Amino acid sequence: MASVTLESIGKIYPGGVRAVEGVDLHIADGEFVVLVGPSGCGKSTTLRMVAGLEDISEGTLRIGDRVVNEVAARDRDVAMVFQNYALYPHLDVRRNLSFGLERRRRKLGLSRADIAGRVEKTATSLGIDSLLDRFPRQLSGGQRQRVAVGRALVRDPAVFLLDEPLSNLDARLRVETRAELRVLHRRLEATMLYVTHDQEEAMSLGDRLVVMHEGHVQQVGSPMDVYRCPVNRFVASFVGSPAMNMLEGGIVDGDRGPVFKVSSGGEITLPPIEHRGPAVLGLRPESIGFEPEATGRGPLVEIDAVERYGDRGDAWLRLVDGGGQERLVHRGSAVDLPAEGLRVRLGALEEGIHVFESGSNGRRLGPEPL
Ligand code: ADP
Repeated sequence: MASVTLESIGKIYPGGVRAVEGVDLHIADGEFVVLVGPSGCGKSTTLRMVAGLEDISEGTLRIGDRVVNEVAARDRDVAMVFQNYALYPHLDVRRNLSFGLERRRRKLGLSRADIAGRVEKTATSLGIDSLLDRFPRQLSGGQRQRVAVGRALVRDPAVFLLDEPLSNLDARLRVETRAELRVLHRRLEATMLYVTHDQEEAMSLGDRLVVMHEGHVQQVGSPMDVYRCPVNRFVASFVGSPAMNMLEGGIVDGDRGPVFKVSSGGEITLPPIEHRGPAVLGLRPESIGFEPEATGRGPLVEIDAVERYGDRGDAWLRLVDGGGQERLVHRGSAVDLPAEGLRVRLGALEEGIHVFESGSNGRRLGPEPL
Protein backbone atom coordinates (compact mmCIF):
# COMPACT_ATOMS: atom_id res chain seq x y z
CA MET A 1 0.00 0.00 0.00
CA ALA A 2 1.03 3.61 -0.36
CA SER A 3 0.31 7.15 0.76
CA VAL A 4 -1.27 9.71 -1.56
CA THR A 5 -0.34 13.37 -1.48
CA LEU A 6 -2.17 16.21 -3.21
CA GLU A 7 -0.38 19.56 -3.34
CA SER A 8 -2.32 22.60 -4.55
CA ILE A 9 -4.30 20.40 -6.90
CA GLY A 10 -6.70 22.22 -9.22
CA LYS A 11 -8.86 21.39 -12.21
CA ILE A 12 -10.11 23.61 -14.96
CA TYR A 13 -12.18 21.71 -17.52
CA PRO A 14 -11.86 22.52 -21.20
CA GLY A 15 -14.21 25.43 -21.76
CA GLY A 16 -13.03 27.08 -18.57
CA VAL A 17 -15.15 25.47 -15.83
CA ARG A 18 -13.17 25.66 -12.61
CA ALA A 19 -14.11 22.46 -10.75
CA VAL A 20 -11.43 22.22 -8.05
CA GLU A 21 -8.91 24.66 -6.57
CA GLY A 22 -5.98 24.46 -4.18
CA VAL A 23 -6.58 21.02 -2.69
CA ASP A 24 -3.86 20.05 -0.20
CA LEU A 25 -4.25 16.64 1.34
CA HIS A 26 -1.98 13.89 2.61
CA ILE A 27 -3.55 10.45 2.87
CA ALA A 28 -1.39 8.21 5.01
CA ASP A 29 -0.57 4.66 4.03
CA GLY A 30 -3.51 2.53 5.16
CA GLU A 31 -5.82 5.43 5.89
CA PHE A 32 -9.52 5.59 4.92
CA VAL A 33 -10.29 9.14 3.79
CA VAL A 34 -13.72 10.26 2.58
CA LEU A 35 -14.31 13.22 0.28
CA VAL A 36 -17.78 14.51 1.11
CA GLY A 37 -19.88 17.45 -0.05
CA PRO A 38 -22.99 18.31 -2.03
CA SER A 39 -23.35 17.43 -5.69
CA GLY A 40 -21.05 19.48 -7.91
CA CYS A 41 -18.52 20.41 -5.21
CA GLY A 42 -15.64 18.70 -7.04
CA LYS A 43 -15.33 15.34 -5.23
CA SER A 44 -15.42 13.10 -8.29
CA THR A 45 -13.14 15.38 -10.23
CA THR A 46 -10.58 15.17 -7.42
CA LEU A 47 -10.86 11.38 -7.27
CA ARG A 48 -10.62 11.06 -11.04
CA MET A 49 -7.44 13.14 -11.05
CA VAL A 50 -5.94 10.74 -8.51
CA ALA A 51 -7.07 7.81 -10.66
CA GLY A 52 -5.54 9.33 -13.79
CA LEU A 53 -8.89 9.58 -15.56
CA GLU A 54 -8.70 13.38 -15.70
CA ASP A 55 -5.68 15.53 -16.43
CA ILE A 56 -4.41 17.55 -13.51
CA SER A 57 -4.54 21.26 -14.38
CA GLU A 58 -2.60 22.53 -11.37
CA GLY A 59 -0.47 21.15 -8.57
CA THR A 60 1.43 17.95 -7.84
CA LEU A 61 0.09 14.48 -7.16
CA ARG A 62 2.22 11.83 -5.47
CA ILE A 63 1.49 8.17 -4.86
CA GLY A 64 4.07 7.08 -2.35
CA ASP A 65 7.13 9.19 -3.23
CA ARG A 66 6.51 9.17 -6.95
CA VAL A 67 5.07 12.19 -8.76
CA VAL A 68 2.37 10.72 -11.01
CA ASN A 69 0.88 13.78 -12.74
CA GLU A 70 1.99 12.46 -16.11
CA VAL A 71 1.69 8.74 -15.36
CA ALA A 72 -1.10 6.91 -17.21
CA ALA A 73 -3.99 5.52 -15.16
CA ARG A 74 -3.00 1.90 -15.78
CA ASP A 75 0.50 2.54 -14.44
CA ARG A 76 -0.54 4.27 -11.22
CA ASP A 77 -1.28 1.05 -9.34
CA VAL A 78 -4.72 2.28 -8.27
CA ALA A 79 -8.00 0.38 -8.45
CA MET A 80 -11.30 2.14 -8.77
CA VAL A 81 -14.83 1.06 -7.82
CA PHE A 82 -17.63 3.07 -9.39
CA GLN A 83 -21.27 3.62 -8.61
CA ASN A 84 -22.38 1.69 -11.70
CA TYR A 85 -20.24 -1.35 -11.12
CA ALA A 86 -19.77 -1.91 -14.85
CA LEU A 87 -19.37 -5.67 -14.60
CA TYR A 88 -19.00 -7.45 -17.94
CA PRO A 89 -22.49 -8.94 -18.49
CA HIS A 90 -21.27 -11.74 -20.77
CA LEU A 91 -18.58 -12.96 -18.34
CA ASP A 92 -19.24 -15.00 -15.21
CA VAL A 93 -18.06 -13.77 -11.83
CA ARG A 94 -14.79 -15.71 -12.06
CA ARG A 95 -13.92 -14.10 -15.38
CA ASN A 96 -15.09 -10.69 -14.18
CA LEU A 97 -12.62 -11.00 -11.35
CA SER A 98 -9.76 -12.36 -13.42
CA PHE A 99 -10.21 -10.23 -16.52
CA GLY A 100 -7.93 -7.35 -15.52
CA LEU A 101 -5.16 -9.70 -14.41
CA GLU A 102 -5.44 -11.93 -17.49
CA ARG A 103 -4.99 -8.94 -19.72
CA ARG A 104 -1.78 -7.94 -17.99
CA ARG A 105 -0.61 -11.40 -17.08
CA ARG A 106 2.79 -11.21 -18.78
CA LYS A 107 3.55 -7.71 -17.58
CA LEU A 108 2.71 -8.75 -14.02
CA GLY A 109 4.63 -12.03 -14.38
CA LEU A 110 1.68 -14.14 -13.23
CA SER A 111 0.87 -17.71 -14.22
CA ARG A 112 -2.72 -18.83 -14.92
CA ALA A 113 -2.60 -20.73 -11.64
CA ASP A 114 -1.49 -17.58 -9.78
CA ILE A 115 -4.49 -15.73 -11.15
CA ALA A 116 -6.92 -18.54 -10.33
CA GLY A 117 -5.50 -18.61 -6.80
CA ARG A 118 -5.90 -14.89 -6.34
CA VAL A 119 -9.46 -14.98 -7.64
CA GLU A 120 -10.38 -17.78 -5.22
CA LYS A 121 -8.79 -16.00 -2.29
CA THR A 122 -10.49 -12.70 -3.05
CA ALA A 123 -13.86 -14.37 -3.60
CA THR A 124 -13.56 -16.20 -0.29
CA SER A 125 -12.61 -13.05 1.58
CA LEU A 126 -15.72 -11.31 0.23
CA GLY A 127 -18.02 -14.27 0.72
CA ILE A 128 -18.77 -14.63 -2.99
CA ASP A 129 -16.90 -17.90 -3.61
CA SER A 130 -20.18 -19.73 -4.17
CA LEU A 131 -21.11 -17.29 -6.95
CA LEU A 132 -18.07 -17.68 -9.19
CA ASP A 133 -19.95 -19.46 -11.98
CA ARG A 134 -22.88 -17.05 -12.11
CA PHE A 135 -23.35 -14.19 -14.52
CA PRO A 136 -23.99 -10.63 -13.31
CA ARG A 137 -27.69 -10.81 -14.24
CA GLN A 138 -28.03 -13.73 -11.79
CA LEU A 139 -26.77 -11.66 -8.85
CA SER A 140 -28.52 -9.34 -6.41
CA GLY A 141 -27.44 -5.70 -6.19
CA GLY A 142 -25.38 -6.39 -3.08
CA GLN A 143 -23.65 -9.35 -4.68
CA ARG A 144 -22.80 -7.35 -7.78
CA GLN A 145 -21.40 -4.69 -5.51
CA ARG A 146 -19.14 -7.24 -3.87
CA VAL A 147 -17.93 -8.51 -7.23
CA ALA A 148 -17.09 -4.93 -8.20
CA VAL A 149 -15.10 -4.52 -4.98
CA GLY A 150 -13.51 -7.92 -5.61
CA ARG A 151 -12.38 -6.83 -9.01
CA ALA A 152 -10.46 -3.97 -7.42
CA LEU A 153 -9.21 -6.16 -4.58
CA VAL A 154 -7.83 -8.94 -6.76
CA ARG A 155 -5.35 -6.55 -8.29
CA ASP A 156 -3.78 -5.84 -4.92
CA PRO A 157 -3.34 -2.15 -5.77
CA ALA A 158 -1.41 0.49 -3.85
CA VAL A 159 -4.55 2.61 -3.45
CA PHE A 160 -8.30 2.01 -3.66
CA LEU A 161 -10.50 4.73 -5.08
CA LEU A 162 -14.25 4.43 -4.58
CA ASP A 163 -16.80 6.77 -6.17
CA GLU A 164 -20.24 6.50 -4.51
CA PRO A 165 -19.97 2.70 -4.62
CA LEU A 166 -23.05 2.13 -2.45
CA SER A 167 -25.53 4.50 -4.00
CA ASN A 168 -27.30 1.85 -6.10
CA LEU A 169 -28.08 -0.29 -3.07
CA ASP A 170 -31.28 -0.08 -1.05
CA ALA A 171 -31.07 1.55 2.39
CA ARG A 172 -30.61 -1.58 4.47
CA LEU A 173 -28.03 -3.13 2.19
CA ARG A 174 -26.17 0.15 2.07
CA VAL A 175 -25.76 0.15 5.83
CA GLU A 176 -24.64 -3.49 5.82
CA THR A 177 -22.19 -3.04 2.97
CA ARG A 178 -20.85 0.05 4.70
CA ALA A 179 -19.96 -2.02 7.73
CA GLU A 180 -18.39 -4.67 5.49
CA LEU A 181 -16.22 -2.03 3.88
CA ARG A 182 -14.96 -0.92 7.28
CA VAL A 183 -14.13 -4.50 8.19
CA LEU A 184 -12.41 -5.00 4.86
CA HIS A 185 -10.42 -1.84 5.30
CA ARG A 186 -9.25 -2.92 8.71
CA ARG A 187 -8.24 -6.31 7.47
CA LEU A 188 -6.43 -5.12 4.35
CA GLU A 189 -4.92 -2.03 5.97
CA ALA A 190 -5.55 -0.54 2.56
CA THR A 191 -5.21 3.10 1.56
CA MET A 192 -8.71 4.16 0.52
CA LEU A 193 -10.07 7.37 -0.91
CA TYR A 194 -13.85 7.34 -1.02
CA VAL A 195 -16.33 9.81 -2.47
CA THR A 196 -19.89 10.32 -1.27
CA HIS A 197 -22.45 13.12 -1.00
CA ASP A 198 -23.98 11.36 2.00
CA GLN A 199 -22.65 12.83 5.22
CA GLU A 200 -23.83 9.92 7.32
CA GLU A 201 -22.00 7.45 5.10
CA ALA A 202 -18.92 9.65 5.28
CA MET A 203 -19.10 9.89 9.08
CA SER A 204 -19.49 6.15 9.49
CA LEU A 205 -16.73 5.12 7.09
CA GLY A 206 -13.90 7.58 7.24
CA ASP A 207 -10.88 7.74 9.49
CA ARG A 208 -10.93 11.32 8.27
CA LEU A 209 -13.38 13.45 6.31
CA VAL A 210 -12.52 16.04 3.71
CA VAL A 211 -15.54 18.33 3.45
CA MET A 212 -15.70 20.11 0.09
CA HIS A 213 -17.84 23.00 -1.14
CA GLU A 214 -17.67 24.77 -4.50
CA GLY A 215 -14.34 23.21 -5.47
CA HIS A 216 -12.58 24.01 -2.20
CA VAL A 217 -11.72 21.96 0.84
CA GLN A 218 -13.53 23.43 3.83
CA GLN A 219 -12.31 21.16 6.60
CA VAL A 220 -10.26 18.01 7.12
CA GLY A 221 -10.61 16.03 10.32
CA SER A 222 -11.92 12.97 12.08
CA PRO A 223 -15.72 12.62 11.84
CA MET A 224 -16.20 13.55 15.49
CA ASP A 225 -13.84 16.54 15.31
CA VAL A 226 -15.70 17.88 12.30
CA TYR A 227 -19.02 17.31 14.06
CA ARG A 228 -17.95 18.91 17.32
CA CYS A 229 -16.01 21.79 15.85
CA PRO A 230 -17.16 22.72 12.33
CA VAL A 231 -14.96 25.51 10.96
CA ASN A 232 -17.78 27.40 9.28
CA ARG A 233 -21.48 27.56 8.75
CA PHE A 234 -21.39 25.42 5.63
CA VAL A 235 -19.71 22.50 7.37
CA ALA A 236 -21.93 22.96 10.42
CA SER A 237 -25.08 22.69 8.31
CA PHE A 238 -23.80 19.92 6.06
CA VAL A 239 -22.55 17.50 8.70
CA GLY A 240 -25.19 16.11 11.05
CA SER A 241 -28.78 15.07 10.52
CA PRO A 242 -31.15 16.68 11.23
CA ALA A 243 -29.08 19.72 10.36
CA MET A 244 -27.84 22.20 12.95
CA ASN A 245 -30.37 24.93 13.83
CA MET A 246 -29.26 28.49 13.07
CA LEU A 247 -30.52 31.64 14.82
CA GLU A 248 -29.65 35.20 13.84
CA GLY A 249 -28.82 37.67 16.59
CA GLY A 250 -25.90 39.08 18.52
CA ILE A 251 -23.73 38.59 21.58
CA VAL A 252 -23.83 41.00 24.52
CA ASP A 253 -22.46 40.96 28.08
CA GLY A 254 -24.93 39.52 30.54
CA ASP A 255 -24.83 39.41 34.36
CA ARG A 256 -22.96 36.12 34.30
CA GLY A 257 -21.00 36.16 31.07
CA PRO A 258 -21.90 36.39 27.40
CA VAL A 259 -25.50 36.11 26.27
CA PHE A 260 -26.85 35.52 22.77
CA LYS A 261 -29.83 37.77 22.03
CA VAL A 262 -31.97 36.20 19.32
CA SER A 263 -33.16 38.82 16.81
CA SER A 264 -36.78 37.77 17.10
CA GLY A 265 -36.70 37.72 20.91
CA GLY A 266 -35.36 35.71 23.82
CA GLU A 267 -31.80 34.98 24.92
CA ILE A 268 -29.49 32.05 25.48
CA THR A 269 -26.59 32.02 27.92
CA LEU A 270 -23.30 31.16 26.22
CA PRO A 271 -20.15 29.44 27.41
CA PRO A 272 -17.08 31.74 27.52
CA ILE A 273 -16.48 33.39 24.13
CA GLU A 274 -14.67 36.59 23.18
CA HIS A 275 -16.82 37.83 20.32
CA ARG A 276 -19.41 40.58 20.89
CA GLY A 277 -21.81 41.92 18.26
CA PRO A 278 -23.81 40.38 15.41
CA ALA A 279 -23.47 36.62 15.02
CA VAL A 280 -25.29 33.42 14.18
CA LEU A 281 -25.99 30.87 16.89
CA GLY A 282 -25.87 27.21 15.84
CA LEU A 283 -27.60 24.62 18.01
CA ARG A 284 -27.36 20.89 17.41
CA PRO A 285 -30.85 19.31 17.52
CA GLU A 286 -29.84 16.99 20.35
CA SER A 287 -28.56 19.85 22.48
CA ILE A 288 -31.80 21.83 22.51
CA GLY A 289 -33.58 21.77 25.86
CA PHE A 290 -36.74 23.42 27.15
CA GLU A 291 -37.75 25.73 29.99
CA PRO A 292 -41.22 26.70 31.19
CA GLU A 293 -42.77 29.67 29.36
CA ALA A 294 -43.24 31.67 32.58
CA THR A 295 -39.76 31.35 34.06
CA GLY A 296 -37.38 30.79 31.12
CA ARG A 297 -35.60 33.53 29.18
CA GLY A 298 -35.06 31.65 25.94
CA PRO A 299 -36.98 32.28 22.72
CA LEU A 300 -40.61 31.16 22.89
CA VAL A 301 -41.37 28.21 20.64
CA GLU A 302 -44.44 26.18 19.82
CA ILE A 303 -44.16 22.43 19.28
CA ASP A 304 -45.56 22.03 15.76
CA ALA A 305 -45.07 18.32 15.19
CA VAL A 306 -43.49 15.37 16.94
CA GLU A 307 -42.10 12.32 15.14
CA ARG A 308 -41.09 9.19 17.04
CA TYR A 309 -38.82 6.52 15.55
CA GLY A 310 -38.98 3.98 18.36
CA ASP A 311 -35.95 4.84 20.47
CA ARG A 312 -35.61 8.50 19.54
CA GLY A 313 -37.62 11.18 17.86
CA ASP A 314 -37.73 14.74 16.54
CA ALA A 315 -39.83 17.66 17.67
CA TRP A 316 -40.35 20.42 15.11
CA LEU A 317 -40.49 23.83 16.72
CA ARG A 318 -41.63 27.20 15.49
CA LEU A 319 -40.34 30.48 16.87
CA VAL A 320 -43.47 32.25 18.06
CA ASP A 321 -42.08 35.80 17.90
CA GLY A 322 -40.80 37.64 14.86
CA GLY A 323 -43.24 36.40 12.23
CA GLY A 324 -43.64 32.89 13.55
CA GLN A 325 -42.18 31.25 10.45
CA GLU A 326 -38.77 30.08 11.55
CA ARG A 327 -38.49 26.35 12.14
CA LEU A 328 -36.10 24.53 14.46
CA VAL A 329 -35.74 20.88 15.29
CA HIS A 330 -35.03 19.13 18.58
CA ARG A 331 -33.92 15.52 18.74
CA GLY A 332 -34.38 13.50 21.89
CA SER A 333 -35.38 10.25 23.43
CA ALA A 334 -38.84 9.22 22.15
CA VAL A 335 -40.28 9.09 25.65
CA ASP A 336 -39.11 12.59 26.61
CA LEU A 337 -40.34 14.62 23.63
CA PRO A 338 -42.68 17.52 24.45
CA ALA A 339 -46.32 17.31 23.41
CA GLU A 340 -47.55 18.82 20.14
CA GLY A 341 -49.14 22.23 20.59
CA LEU A 342 -47.18 23.05 23.74
CA ARG A 343 -45.49 26.45 24.14
CA VAL A 344 -42.13 26.42 25.87
CA ARG A 345 -38.92 28.40 25.96
CA LEU A 346 -35.79 27.19 24.27
CA GLY A 347 -32.67 26.32 26.22
CA ALA A 348 -29.41 24.78 25.06
CA LEU A 349 -26.80 22.42 26.39
CA GLU A 350 -23.33 23.88 26.25
CA GLU A 351 -21.74 21.12 24.14
CA GLY A 352 -24.10 21.76 21.25
CA ILE A 353 -23.59 25.53 21.05
CA HIS A 354 -21.68 27.04 18.13
CA VAL A 355 -21.24 30.68 17.19
CA PHE A 356 -20.54 31.82 13.63
CA GLU A 357 -19.89 35.15 11.93
CA SER A 358 -23.02 36.54 10.31
CA GLY A 359 -23.40 35.85 6.63
CA SER A 360 -24.29 32.77 4.68
CA ASN A 361 -20.99 30.98 5.26
CA GLY A 362 -19.52 32.72 8.29
CA ARG A 363 -16.48 31.33 10.07
CA ARG A 364 -16.82 29.69 13.44
CA LEU A 365 -16.09 32.17 16.24
CA GLY A 366 -16.25 29.78 19.18
CA PRO A 367 -16.65 28.59 21.82
CA GLU A 368 -13.59 26.42 22.39
CA PRO A 369 -14.62 22.78 22.06
CA LEU A 370 -15.12 21.06 25.42
P1 ADP B 1 -19.18 16.10 -7.47
O1 ADP B 1 -18.46 14.82 -7.68
O2 ADP B 1 -18.84 16.74 -6.17
O3 ADP B 1 -20.66 16.00 -7.68
P2 ADP B 1 -17.82 16.93 -9.89
O4 ADP B 1 -16.40 16.76 -9.56
O5 ADP B 1 -18.47 15.87 -10.73
O6 ADP B 1 -18.67 17.15 -8.55
O7 ADP B 1 -18.04 18.31 -10.64
C1 ADP B 1 -17.47 19.51 -10.16
C2 ADP B 1 -17.79 20.64 -11.15
O8 ADP B 1 -17.16 20.39 -12.39
C3 ADP B 1 -19.28 20.77 -11.45
O9 ADP B 1 -19.54 22.14 -11.59
C4 ADP B 1 -19.43 20.06 -12.76
O10 ADP B 1 -20.51 20.56 -13.50
C5 ADP B 1 -18.11 20.33 -13.44
N1 ADP B 1 -17.72 19.25 -14.35
C6 ADP B 1 -17.60 17.92 -14.08
N2 ADP B 1 -17.19 17.23 -15.14
C7 ADP B 1 -17.04 18.11 -16.15
C8 ADP B 1 -16.63 18.02 -17.54
N3 ADP B 1 -16.27 16.86 -18.08
N4 ADP B 1 -16.58 19.16 -18.25
C9 ADP B 1 -16.92 20.35 -17.71
N5 ADP B 1 -17.30 20.51 -16.42
C10 ADP B 1 -17.38 19.42 -15.65
